[in-house]
Amino acid sequence: MIPYGRQDILDDDIEAVVAVLRSDYLTQGPAVPRFEAAVARAADVPHAVACNSATSALHLACMALDLGPGDLLWTSPITFVASANCARYCGADVDFVDIDPQTANMCPDRLAEKLAAAKAAGRLPKIIVPVHLAGLSCDMARIGALARDYGVRVIEDASHAIGGRYHGVPVGACSHSDITVFSFHPVKIVTSGEGGAAVTRDDALAARMERLRSHGITRDPGLMTHDPDGPWYYQQLELGWNYRLTDIQAALGASQMTRLTDYVAARNRLADRYDAELGELPIGLAGRAEDCLSAFHLYVIRVVQERHRSVFEGLRARGIGVNLHYIPVHLQPYYRAMGFAEGDFPAAEQYYREAISIPLFPTMTQAMQDDVIAAIRSEIAD
Ligand SMILES: *Cc1c(COP(=O)(O)O)cnc(C)c1O
Repeated sequence: MIPYGRQDILDDDIEAVVAVLRSDYLTQGPAVPRFEAAVARAADVPHAVACNSATSALHLACMALDLGPGDLLWTSPITFVASANCARYCGADVDFVDIDPQTANMCPDRLAEKLAAAKAAGRLPKIIVPVHLAGLSCDMARIGALARDYGVRVIEDASHAIGGRYHGVPVGACSHSDITVFSFHPVKIVTSGEGGAAVTRDDALAARMERLRSHGITRDPGLMTHDPDGPWYYQQLELGWNYRLTDIQAALGASQMTRLTDYVAARNRLADRYDAELGELPIGLAGRAEDCLSAFHLYVIRVVQERHRSVFEGLRARGIGVNLHYIPVHLQPYYRAMGFAEGDFPAAEQYYREAISIPLFPTMTQAMQDDVIAAIRSEIAD
């Protein structure tokens, strides 16, 4: 089976991890800030807060923006459940904004309509979470402008998109958002095993997320309620969690980050070849957008809904490890129990009837890609 994604671990990565294992610090040592510096440099921002998953990073970001009970967060229905669950961790409610059928990203027109209606109804969201599906940035200039107009904060879920670019700047530069979150799960662009990061230009948000990552504890006397009792002293100022990344993971992540540009270039070469080789077939190809470099975490084709299931099963039977990203979040039983139902977000539901993620990873050989292309041609012809 050719998988839809696969990590790339080189000897350098292994040596970097072994060096940590032989060092004094398995956690809270120098590898974490080194990894954070690499992530901040890639996103062209002053601050990166590494944590043990993107799910934790989303939770920290929501907490740092003071999301709480009675508040509302909006995201895309076509995402991994974590983009919505972060609101529930804070006791806030979730709603969704339907997608642009072309890119499958949050549609700025639907967002504009929904914000106008929400304002009229007196229930604006506190935070919106656009998701850069498959590695392609959302239309952040428009989403950011709408958010500013309505006084809404923005967290970009860029779990798929590290190394991508939008209008001349790296994804994560936070030009139109407060915080951007990356994932370093092994299926993503670069990996630390498990891991994530929240990046921001805002000094106070970065400091707050760092503190919340480690129980809400500070060792900064300037923040304490009274002078330190002694050199051992720390204070817990608010309720946080243990969301720390280990140095073992950070060393792997930092080693992988040195190849970020090469990975994204390799993914784009493979995607361009899919565009060229599959262009004749009666299927939809990966979404593209003006002045954007997708990180191409995924390559998603669209197949007419009548053939969707049979093409999916046929490709699996031919050894092609296709997948589907994603089941609309509002149709998950947990969210249906809150009142969401079929028909709420028609573009997202139609996308779900048509989408298939085909294999794409930087170490994919031309021969593997030829097999995938041949299998898709046969299935579509059948
Ligand atoms: C993978 C993913 C996450 C969660 O990432 P973890 O690091 O596994 O917690 C969140 N959002 C999206 C869009 C993802 O693809």
